[in-house]
Amino acid sequence: MALSLEQARDIAGALRINARAFIDGAFTDATGGATFETINPATGQILCRVAHCGSADVDRAVAAARRAFNDGRWSRAAPEKRKEVLLRLAGLVRENAHELAVLESLDSGKTITDCLHEIANEVPTFFQWYGELADKTFGKVAPTGEDVLALVVKEPAGVVGLVLPWNFPLLMAAWKLAPALAAGCSTVVKPAEQTPLSLIRLAELAQAAGLPDGVLNVIPGGGETTGQAIGRHNDIDIVSFTGSTEVGGYFLRYAGESNLKVVGLEMGGKSPLIVLDDADLTDDLIEEAARAAFWNGGQNCSANMRQIVHASVADLFLEKVSARARAYKVGDPLDPQTDIGAMVTEEHMARVLGYIERGRSEGARLLTGGRCDGPGYFIAPTVFAALKPDMTIAREEIFGPVLGVLAVDDMAEALQLACDTQYGLHASVFTRDIDRALYMARRLPCGTVSINSFSEGDVKTPFGGYKRSGSLARDNGTEALDQYLQTKTIWINSRPPA
Ligand code: NAP
Ligand code: MG
Repeated sequence: MALSLEQARDIAGALRINARAFIDGAFTDATGGATFETINPATGQILCRVAHCGSADVDRAVAAARRAFNDGRWSRAAPEKRKEVLLRLAGLVRENAHELAVLESLDSGKTITDCLHEIANEVPTFFQWYGELADKTFGKVAPTGEDVLALVVKEPAGVVGLVLPWNFPLLMAAWKLAPALAAGCSTVVKPAEQTPLSLIRLAELAQAAGLPDGVLNVIPGGGETTGQAIGRHNDIDIVSFTGSTEVGGYFLRYAGESNLKVVGLEMGGKSPLIVLDDADLTDDLIEEAARAAFWNGGQNCSANMRQIVHASVADLFLEKVSARARAYKVGDPLDPQTDIGAMVTEEHMARVLGYIERGRSEGARLLTGGRCDGPGYFIAPTVFAALKPDMTIAREEIFGPVLGVLAVDDMAEALQLACDTQYGLHASVFTRDIDRALYMARRLPCGTVSINSFSEGDVKTPFGGYKRSGSLARDNGTEALDQYLQTKTIWINSRPPA
């Protein structure tokens, strides 16, 4: 249910913010009392100070997670029990969705509409879907002669470190936590320092849902401190990371220099949206193209920021997409009328504005957008025409609302440009010709291809990247469980008794 601005402000005024770490079933300060501040990017004001966990706290959390894993309170619990707890957690998130959404909107600058959609619908769906899967995941019996029985069984993989980004704070937590917990793992989770608050509140709800102590530990802190301590910990079996390609690379290094933990990576993108010459430039197509770029203020790993359009329709496309971009309402994230909230921090806003300046100086044509006024950190949806493939803004991930349009002469050129990137997360293709659609879908080297829409799929479909956008690990779908399960063969001699 939507909230009015007054209702959202009332909830904000009454919030009781918990900003402590959650270790072994108890809320706690960081060792030595260290804290950092989290701000509201819509105002620039400090929201509160949050426990800054150092390596001693990571040690405490991992030790608690290991104890829980080894004594089997969750890892060996009946799958029905895990299901019951995760379903209860889904229910508690739904019941508390208004408060969680306001908290997340304040902490991140995301619109209340997006926060509500993610927290009232998607987050509970993840806990529910993986909860339901917990008692419906079967092993295998391998084909052998009668003298042997060969069982292939799946076991929870151990203690898992989850390192999260700030763009979808609670949703990314659910993407990883739901399958990890359904699998029976114990978890140590680091939210991004910009957006720790909704995850801390989730820990309260998980405890109320009956999750045993030590199975979920939340340790807020910085990347180079807390994040690195997770990456280098010798008693963490697996890390699942979502964030930038640069930091993903650090986690591979940390693993190589410590216990060779398995590292699953979901990273950046510079995804193409392709409009072939037979596509009609309907309002629907324009809406999808604009959403592909500007949803969540462009702070989205699968944002389609290189839009590759057949030259015969490129001018009309630019005119329509720019008009749509100008119609977006940028402003107070708590207002349900707002389409685009604040950039997550002042530094991030400056970085995005730097790219806009770079686009101009390298010769792209700015049609609309740029900095918006305000004490907070706002950027209007920005559209560049005359983008060339070698320009900085055509190659680097900007992670803000900056769309560039490239004109091409045919499908082959569109495909060649689309593939000309180090990333491979997502692509959209618009055409009325099913043969061309399937040809492009097969040839694009990326984890998800959407035909005639912009969509990442849903909880049932795996999400991840080719090339420098990801590892072989996938979030979502039954594939996500594989990240958190070991495979064991049990080979049983079953010759008939003498
Ligand atoms: P980021 O800077 O890579 O941060 C991600 C996480 O890593 C944060 O928790 C961060 O902690 C931590 N971290 C930073 N430096 C670290 C270090 N030296 N050692 C260990 N941990 C470190 O990314 P971000 O700015 O939060 O998020 C934006 C990026 O995420 C974009 O590139 C986007 O494409 C990607 N993303 C990918 C997906 C996907 O599924 N593929 C989804 C969403 C976002 P602090 O924040 O506390 O520093
Ligand atoms: Mg914040």
